[in-house]
Amino acid sequence: MLKKQVIISACLLGENCRYDAQTKVNKEILHKYKDYEIIPFCPEAPLFGTPRQRISVIEINGKNRIITNETNEDVTQKLQDEINSFIIKYPQVKEIVLKSKSPSCGLGTTPVLDEDKFFLKYGNGIAAEIFLKQFHYTNIRDEIN
Ligand code: SF4
Repeated sequence: MLKKQVIISACLLGENCRYDAQTKVNKEILHKYKDYEIIPFCPEAPLFGTPRQRISVIEINGKNRIITNETNEDVTQKLQDEINSFIIKYPQVKEIVLKSKSPSCGLGTTPVLDEDKFFLKYGNGIAAEIFLKQFHYTNIRDEIN
């Protein structure tokens, strides 16, 4: 029998793909999905390498943009392209588990900053935002929700 598929943020699975080359393994998640086919997901590491400078969600003219912390580069489009090319490979996935607080993966837990980089509110990372639009019938959760 085919296993159910779940997309999980790769750093929760033990991959050292975070900006600081560390991981954030979540044993509870690993245990919960032990009988699933796990599909690791990380849009940042393939694009920007590991380690890399941090990125942030910045609200500019009412829209969220993803900006690098040190060089102030707008990398929104690059991330959108990377995430969209991942999504088309997995149209049938019914569960997604995302790393909290991340500018890419966070679901309602990501700090959104104003243009002066002061905290504005909590919102979604760019991948969570795209997943919510593309996977209408899928259970999408943040690791802490
Ligand atoms: S939170 Fe998402 S983008 Fe950041 S390292 Fe983990 S999987 Fe990659």
